[in-house]
Amino acid sequence: MAHAHTEPPAPVALRVKAIESLLVEKGLVDPAALDELVDLFENRLGPRNGARVVARAWTDPAYRQRLLADGTSAIAELGFSGAQGEHMIVLENTDRVHNVVVCTLCSCYPWPVLGLPPVWYKSAPYRARVVMEPRAVLAEFGLEVPDEVEVRVWDSNAELRYLVLPQRPPGTEHLSEAELAELVTRDSMIGTGQPRRPGQAAGAEGPA
Ligand code: FE
Repeated sequence: MAHAHTEPPAPVALRVKAIESLLVEKGLVDPAALDELVDLFENRLGPRNGARVVARAWTDPAYRQRLLADGTSAIAELGFSGAQGEHMIVLENTDRVHNVVVCTLCSCYPWPVLGLPPVWYKSAPYRARVVMEPRAVLAEFGLEVPDEVEVRVWDSNAELRYLVLPQRPPGTEHLSEAELAELVTRDSMIGTGQPRRPGQAAGAEGPA
């Protein structure tokens, strides 16, 4: 199914809402359980796929090359593919370049590697402001990008979805691939955050 770079058609959204209301009303689902399910895909389960891709790239130089050359097929090597991830481009952060991803028109997002987009990603202020004043927006996420690092903003669309390959944190030479994956945050793969450092507790993501 092609994604037309628009919000879901209103009738579909309305039908989903109607079904949800009915299920809640009949006592068949608990609204809190639904919220929990959304949170699972948005914050916990979804982004773990992307974290595995990043950790593999950090530990396997040949994989990293394949990932940067053809994101879609390299991601599919790990078993992640499907709707909203048919054409993936992986953006490598370096000492000189920091990449950040947005969808200025709606909420295009790489579902197979990141799950569902967080609320702020879909918000009008993020979509408008990250293009005009990316450093100010990133600062609100607690991410100060040094002046000498160029910030590049990438606009997702129906054809292309982006995954940021963050820099491997220092002091992680001794960690296994699985341990490295634990350090990869969702926001670090959107470009609004950095991976955690070893020993740094998992905190809330998103803007402060
Ligand atoms: Fe979009």
